[in-house]
Amino acid sequence: MRLLVVEDEQDLVDALRVGLVRSGYAVDAAPDVDSALEKLAVNDYDLVLLDLTLPDGDGLAVCRAIRLAPGGPRILMLTARDRLADRVRGLDAGADDYLVKPFALPELLARIRALLRRDEGGTSVLEVGELRLDTARFEAYRGERPLQLTPKEFGVLHYLMSRAGQVIPAEELLEHVWDENADPFTNTVRVTVGSLRRKVTGEGEPLIETVIRQGYRLREDR
Ligand code: CA
Repeated sequence: MRLLVVEDEQDLVDALRVGLVRSGYAVDAAPDVDSALEKLAVNDYDLVLLDLTLPDGDGLAVCRAIRLAPGGPRILMLTARDRLADRVRGLDAGADDYLVKPFALPELLARIRALLRRDEGGTSVLEVGELRLDTARFEAYRGERPLQLTPKEFGVLHYLMSRAGQVIPAEELLEHVWDENADPFTNTVRVTVGSLRRKVTGEGEPLIETVIRQGYRLREDR
């Protein structure tokens, strides 16, 4: 899943990036309204962390822009404790939730999972056939066997499991699991899917299929 952090406090952005990447998310950052709108125009985000007081304007402008189109990312506002009116306006403008600064990383991660799983049937544990992915504990299993995954492998498996049975093009994985610094001309997706497939397969049947010239598909239960 890919997140956009709209925040002008660079120290906070750096800390968030470390914590979010470690949890398997791809992270881009924008320090102001203008750059946030630019990134939203070209990238497909799953969730936006939105600070409301930005150097060139009000974060609510970003919120409204996102909500102009249907099916946009989830929005989690980051607000100051004394700005109740802002939070109300933000929720009215289409934000899904808010978190008051300063906050602890575990709480932020929990809020993010809660928002993302609104699209996944309301649980932090995804199950497809023998595969089980616990997004809260950052654990993956095939049957009883724990899988030792890198954050990127975890991100790819999360994306494939949330769309099990569908063919997912490599470009879509790049868009949702990698950040904007990923080079679209490298074979990074192929390499990551390859190592993930080996770990998931182990001694069993391969579950991640390559569909020639189309992409990858996680087999559904049978
Ligand atoms: Ca700010």
